[in-house]
Amino acid sequence: MKLPKYKWPILLLSALLTACSTNEPIVKNQNVSLQLLQKGQDSELAYQLLESLTVEVGPRLPGSPADLQAVNWAVTQLNRLGFDRVYKEAVTVPVWHRGQAHADIVAPYPQPLVITALGGSIATPAEGITADIIRFTSLAALELASVDEVFGKIVFIDHKTERHINGQGYGQTVPGRSKGAVSAAKKGAVAILIRSIGTDSDRMPHTGMMRYQPDVKPIPAAALSNPDADLITAMLKRQQGVRIQLDLSPQDQGTATSYNVIAELTGSSKPEEIVLIGAHLDSWDEGTGALDDGAGVAIVTAAAKLIADLPTRPARTIRVVLFAAEEIGLVGAKQYVIDHQHELNLHYIAAESDFGAGSIYQLDVNVNPEVLTAVQHYMMPLADLGVNAGNNQARGAPDVSLFPALGVPVASLRQDGRDYFDYHHTPNDTLDKVDPISLKQNVAVWSQFTYLMAQSELPLRPIVEQD
Ligand SMILES: [Zn+2]
Repeated sequence: MKLPKYKWPILLLSALLTACSTNEPIVKNQNVSLQLLQKGQDSELAYQLLESLTVEVGPRLPGSPADLQAVNWAVTQLNRLGFDRVYKEAVTVPVWHRGQAHADIVAPYPQPLVITALGGSIATPAEGITADIIRFTSLAALELASVDEVFGKIVFIDHKTERHINGQGYGQTVPGRSKGAVSAAKKGAVAILIRSIGTDSDRMPHTGMMRYQPDVKPIPAAALSNPDADLITAMLKRQQGVRIQLDLSPQDQGTATSYNVIAELTGSSKPEEIVLIGAHLDSWDEGTGALDDGAGVAIVTAAAKLIADLPTRPARTIRVVLFAAEEIGLVGAKQYVIDHQHELNLHYIAAESDFGAGSIYQLDVNVNPEVLTAVQHYMMPLADLGVNAGNNQARGAPDVSLFPALGVPVASLRQDGRDYFDYHHTPNDTLDKVDPISLKQNVAVWSQFTYLMAQSELPLRPIVEQD
């Protein structure tokens, strides 16, 4: 159909008006987001919080006195920073005490080894365990072995963790740590030693959680530093029958009460809807938990504080959740899901910072595929800090990985983790490993992300569940 000439300007005008009215809030959001970018890059708050947590509390193993100190520290800091609401929710956590760990090669070339107990391991008998080593290059290789080969020996899983920007090497080797003891015990092994799940060459073993199975006899489990794993491997090349004496004295100390610590900025127009940004407050006991996950605690707290300082609150409620007892099996996150079952459908999106302090380079989401392009377009201000649009396959970091299966959209703000597994779960996880400039970039990106999500008009549900 041919339109009369005079109608063209009217159509053009109405199109322009429509465009302006829909874009106006987006442009406003993006302007605020730009302010947050600047403020985030100038803010010293995250570093101050991280220094305070690592110096004044330090290692904070779930259920330990220091864990409760960390809870008190968090409540004090969040109140001081002026959140609208600060509260804590009780979580029952298993308590494990590390004790001592010692190992020696007793034959053929006697020398001491550097090891650490894996989290949750039982102790050796008082006289220790002395047995020959049998080496496997992976958990999969151990699972293929016969009982005859393994019976009465100390299993050694010698699987190297590869360095990668997104840390994917960890996912490949960590099953050996978590499931190795059960697999070895099923074949009659008396203990298990694994090559540390770490990318460094320091003589510094990496701890981390391992599990038993009720119907399988528990055996002691420890990690060797990477150079110690190399040493045993080189010895085995010369001669089979490498014999090891192992002494571990960890203790299961029952349960204790810890807390998820929560702080909120109440939404101005949709207060019942929640943008959850989290991190975990607990840490392993050997370092000061600067990277894992003091950095995350500092980043999400400082990011929310920048939004708290804006003249008006964004539409949705911003909820900072500092989860308890992530390291020993997402215990706090599981409790959160139970405690907040009634409002999970009001969680607009959830994300967690738990990958150290390396710069963020990509935003992955897990949202309704029909709005993916619109979300990516809407989040474009993040590109100013070098953050690319990623994929729709985000699982979220550990604690929020429970959410997609419950219908809650999640995001992963991908950090450069090339050196993360050099220090992860070792005594070397300390404040000096944190680059203050990258930490600021994280705060700026998280505050932009959080603000934009709290203001977004996009329907993020239904999400596609990942398996
Ligand atoms: Zn962590």
